[in-house]
Amino acid sequence: MRWTSRSRSAGVSPAVRRVSRPPAVSIPIITACALMLLCAIVLTGAPPGKHLSVYSVAANYSLPLVQREGRDYVGLLEVLEPLGRVSAKSDSRGWRLRYNNVEGDFQVGKTRARVQGRDTDLGGKFFVENNRGLVPVSSLTSLLPRFLGGPATLHEESGRLFIGSVATHFTASLSGDNPPRLVFHFTAPVNPSVATEPGALRMTFSREPLVAPASPTLTFGSKAIPSAIFSEGNGAAVLTVNASIPVMASFSRDGRTVTISPTASSVASPSPSTTPSATGTPATPAPPTPAPAAAPATYPAARRYFAVVDASHGGDDHGETLSNTLLEKDVTVALARSLRQELESRGIPTLVLRDSDANLSLDQRAIFANADHAAIYIALHAASNGHGVRVYTALLPWGSDDRGSFRSWTTAQHASLPLSQSTANAVAAEMQRRQIPVRTLAAPLRPLNNVTGAAIAVEVAPQGSDSSQLTAPDYQQLVTSAVATAIAATRDQLGGAQ
Ligand SMILES: [Zn+2]
Repeated sequence: MRWTSRSRSAGVSPAVRRVSRPPAVSIPIITACALMLLCAIVLTGAPPGKHLSVYSVAANYSLPLVQREGRDYVGLLEVLEPLGRVSAKSDSRGWRLRYNNVEGDFQVGKTRARVQGRDTDLGGKFFVENNRGLVPVSSLTSLLPRFLGGPATLHEESGRLFIGSVATHFTASLSGDNPPRLVFHFTAPVNPSVATEPGALRMTFSREPLVAPASPTLTFGSKAIPSAIFSEGNGAAVLTVNASIPVMASFSRDGRTVTISPTASSVASPSPSTTPSATGTPATPAPPTPAPAAAPATYPAARRYFAVVDASHGGDDHGETLSNTLLEKDVTVALARSLRQELESRGIPTLVLRDSDANLSLDQRAIFANADHAAIYIALHAASNGHGVRVYTALLPWGSDDRGSFRSWTTAQHASLPLSQSTANAVAAEMQRRQIPVRTLAAPLRPLNNVTGAAIAVEVAPQGSDSSQLTAPDYQQLVTSAVATAIAATRDQLGGAQ
């Protein structure tokens, strides 16, 4: 478990997608038969000012661009910061950037830089402004592979940068129903904002590394839904579905399927009401949407995860060495995936913070949990000694109640501590019911104290002395299903505080 409180910058990795979803969201579109208006569709909703969306396994983020000498520039340190340990300093010789163990030297006004002792062409002058080193956006395709040791793909026109293999792909197919439904399948969960125009429904993907299909225009040979067009611009990808009848979008629970179907008002008989199946097949929207509003509807991307599951440790931080061949950081990822499956099978939308071998600082873990307003944050640890499970809640300094309107970072947990404790007790009771040895403890275990919502840590040890039990899927599931059952049982209580 290791109770370090040192902070660490993120390395390359965990699948962090700030996405969650309720089942079946419906957005009516009003107009019929307006194909001629399609050319009038304007992409709106992008944040003001030019920016660069960066997609990586560690995090998806957005950076402002500035224009210098007719080119788009970006702060290089800001690009690298979410990805690893980075520092920069200016001196008389120039600006020096260090990323993990790689050094780069940049000279103000020069168009070449040295990274790891090798010359790189920047394609434009280097600038330093307010200690920020600015490089042309176009130079990232040559600079980043040097710093990161892996590929980076830049869609310069649309301000999108893909680091590593992060692309989300999709397929679209039209059902044979009459009127038809258009079903999009995505390779990863998506959470677009949805807006309607006369004759079209538009999904904007700001945070997803969605990439174009082989042809950006998909045609379906249907009068009702003739085509869909992929486009990208200013840091977002957009899917525009052209329809001659009013349609709406509905999302599967797992976020990987979006179904475009006629609104109830566009179908002669009421549309049948079905519920999403466990396999994630798209649901027709239920209940039917109310009468369409006069203005195009927009659905803001405000959907959230209920649970954030954190696979503790990762990357350089191995956690405890559980045996000659077993590291805690590997066990926690397996436990996290198992717990996600158990929670989602109980209808609880769950985000796993670290879904690969990534460096992720304790601060970042808490920031992600807080930003998602998760109802429950669950950190997972593993240990070779002790028997069974220990459930932790934060131990805050006495008298740590915040008086002002701002919460102190170190005691952010204060207001939620009673809820955390009752959740920990529910988890422990479920363990007991399943005859898993369990103890509850309060401990100064970061980042529990930094999480604003309910937060617990679950540390799993083998029931006996054989640490290899930690890798046994049935033991992992025994523990994670107990945690999930307890969370599901306290769902209303937790959700009420969300
Ligand atoms: Zn640990």
